[in-house]
Amino acid sequence: QAKAAGRNTQRLFDPGMQASVTARAALEADLRRALAEGQFVLHYQALVDDDGTLTGAEALLRWQHPQRGLVPPGEFIALAEDTGLILPIGQWVLEAACAQLAEWARDPRLKHLKLAANVSARQFRHPEFVPGVLRALNTTGADPRRLKLEITESLLVEDVEDVISKMRQLRARGISFALDDFGTGYSSLSYLKQLPLDDVKIDQSFVRDVLTDPNDAAIARTIVALAGTLGLRVIAEGVETREHWEWLSRHGCHTHQGYYFGRPGPVVAMLESLPKRPAPMRRAHPSGPG
Ligand code: C2E
Ligand code: MG
Ligand code: MG
Ligand code: MG
Repeated sequence: QAKAAGRNTQRLFDPGMQASVTARAALEADLRRALAEGQFVLHYQALVDDDGTLTGAEALLRWQHPQRGLVPPGEFIALAEDTGLILPIGQWVLEAACAQLAEWARDPRLKHLKLAANVSARQFRHPEFVPGVLRALNTTGADPRRLKLEITESLLVEDVEDVISKMRQLRARGISFALDDFGTGYSSLSYLKQLPLDDVKIDQSFVRDVLTDPNDAAIARTIVALAGTLGLRVIAEGVETREHWEWLSRHGCHTHQGYYFGRPGPVVAMLESLPKRPAPMRRAHPSGPG
């Protein structure tokens, strides 16, 4: 009889499914504990301009898990979005990023740096989003002109009016906006001209083979041309080699981010690694004899 019940159970609850439900529930409980116990950290990745000058950074969330070590966002952001935990986690990110900006503002060598924070669609859509951003700025004293928010095309599938209205409210305070992972979503190009954006980020999937794949090169050139027409600046993601950097600079990208300049890491690592980099554009076009 136990055997029959076991079979029955197996039919109703596929063991694989049961295992994944249990794993999700455990991960959710773990995420709640992470928030309560302060296990999240921000890592920073450099953004540099054409001549290799550090102009800012992107803040990338990591989970310092007591057993699993440093967990990347790909392993928990989706569940955080599903469960709504992205709301308090996202607010934590904004506050931590603003606190870092306020710290940089006290250092004359760093006070010009901009810091970009990623915002998930669910977080942006929440009515408390705009007040939450303003609160993060107010409690830390960070300069809103140094804060950039990275949004994605997934925001544009519904209620674009609301998105635009929130962007305008924040831009009125000096905050800037980048459209992240551009080219991978399903947004209509007509939205792009309506959105009050500052930058578009070419997704790394187009950058990876830009030197060898004519389709990727065409996409990258098209994004640069479109951005130029709309008055937006272009940031290339996933710049892994000097050849990437040179190609992208030559084709009109203003700002570059990727492993070539440094992997995401603690803020000190980012600040220390950069000044050592040579500037390829200057080397390619020496300013003269001597
Ligand atoms: P993203 O915003 O597009 O961030 C860029 C990702 O590319 C980062 O992955 C970064 O480590 C990686 N990357 C940077 N340079 C290179 C390179 O040269 N080559 C390659 N192959 N990859 C590079 P990461 O840190 O694992 O983050 C993944 C995604 O998680 C982010 O993509 C973003 O969508 C999301 N994310 C990160 N932090 C947050 C956050 O605070 N809030 C939310 N909502 N999402 C976040
Ligand atoms: Mg981003
Ligand atoms: Mg991106
Ligand atoms: Mg990306």
